[in-house]
Amino acid sequence: MKKRTFIKLTGTVGAGILVAPFLGCGSGANPSAKNATIQSFGFDQEPLGYNVAALAPKIDAVTMEIHYGKHHAGYVRKLNNALRASNGAYDGKGLVDLLAGLAPDQTALRNNGGGHYNHTLYWRVLTPGGAPAPEGDLKAELEATFGSVEAFEEEFSSAGASRFGSGWAWLIRNSKGRLEVTSTANQDNPLMSNIVEKPGIPLLGMDVWEHAYYLNYQNRRRDYIQSFLSLVNWDKVALNAAANF
Ligand code: MN
Repeated sequence: MKKRTFIKLTGTVGAGILVAPFLGCGSGANPSAKNATIQSFGFDQEPLGYNVAALAPKIDAVTMEIHYGKHHAGYVRKLNNALRASNGAYDGKGLVDLLAGLAPDQTALRNNGGGHYNHTLYWRVLTPGGAPAPEGDLKAELEATFGSVEAFEEEFSSAGASRFGSGWAWLIRNSKGRLEVTSTANQDNPLMSNIVEKPGIPLLGMDVWEHAYYLNYQNRRRDYIQSFLSLVNWDKVALNAAANF
């Protein structure tokens, strides 16, 4: 279970077999196809696990349509363009490895690789109506680390609210194996260990770009954050945590 989840998360670039429905590549030309002369590879968006209107009214359908269908899709398209321009330098690499190895000046891969990973995680940790509060091991670890689930939520909310401009708030497992709240600018991601201040494995990611909430909430980012937290699928967050042990 854990290994399978990890494989799904990492995927590969340019491999001939589609092993990763979440963050994997669209795979190369199918070697068994009769007319496989056009080489194309790249990452795909996984389908949303729910209808675009399913999170309304907390996150409205138009925001979801534009966010998933335009913003996220644009990151994927530009990521694939950047990979094509890299002349095979990343063939066989998964997105996690790709992000982990990036240098600050690799702007196209940094912005669009981060954009793809971040949004995929975002769609996955949301669920219509939300899910019950954290349970089991994750709940115990949140309590041990932050004092209580509520204290974690307050720290996480503050990280999102105080992020100047565009960016993300994260719950990560850091290099010491401990849970930690952090925030990154733009589409940076805690996996980018050569770039971000606090590297780690993302368990929960919250988009605080205005495009994530402006139609519904305008300048009221705190209200959006509260709604986001009420829509979190804690089972998925716990799965992310378990996959990283
Ligand atoms: Mn976004």
